Amino acid sequence: MNRRRGYGRYNGRGKNRSGGSSRRARQQALYIRSGIAVLLILTAVLGIYSCASGTGRAYTLADVDASQPEIDVQLLDVNPYSRPGTETEEITGIVVHYTANPGSTAQNNRDYFNGLKDSHETEASSNFIVGLDGEIIQCVPTWEMAYASNSRNIDTVSIECCHPDETGKFTDETYRSLVQLTAWLCVKFNLTQDQVIRHYDVTGKNCPKYFVENKEAWDQFKQDVAGAIAKGS
Ligand SMILES: [Zn+2]
Repeated sequence: MNRRRGYGRYNGRGKNRSGGSSRRARQQALYIRSGIAVLLILTAVLGIYSCASGTGRAYTLADVDASQPEIDVQLLDVNPYSRPGTETEEITGIVVHYTANPGSTAQNNRDYFNGLKDSHETEASSNFIVGLDGEIIQCVPTWEMAYASNSRNIDTVSIECCHPDETGKFTDETYRSLVQLTAWLCVKFNLTQDQVIRHYDVTGKNCPKYFVENKEAWDQFKQDVAGAIAKGS
């Protein structure tokens, strides 16, 4: 009895299993097809997204235009080592730099520049510094010369950028602020992205390192500046 019941049960299960397995197979096939469909949709969406955004930067740049970014004005004291007080000539370019001091903040760099009045260590400064979190500190007015770009100090505005490591690559936040600040300055001084240059273009110095060593990143940056200019201020 037990055996028969057992057998019967076994048979029954066997039947159920075969009936269930084809149902399950259909369900599985359905799940697989749905899964594939979802994957295809995701791939398409991500594909479109990444095409539209390059490395994803365009997403963070979507609302970057040429309007004036938030600027923390902390002008240096007028002194011969970092703020000579010399009036600039007509501004004909924007010069991008990197601090060459990994991990240092905009505030660190601003304070270093201001400290040169006492340390007399060297002559150095910049009109603007963009920090690791995208914060912008202004050290020298745009109508005054900063000591950043050698022979072009007199007719350019300089922007120093902080960077987290030795590669010199900027954080997304720094990059985003740099694009907006540069675009705003271009509009302010009636310049195009082609008048935005690297320190390297003035002296051959490896500055800003990442944009010298990665020409396509530099070209992309200028395109992003042009895009922000096109959106207006
Ligand atoms: Zn430089």
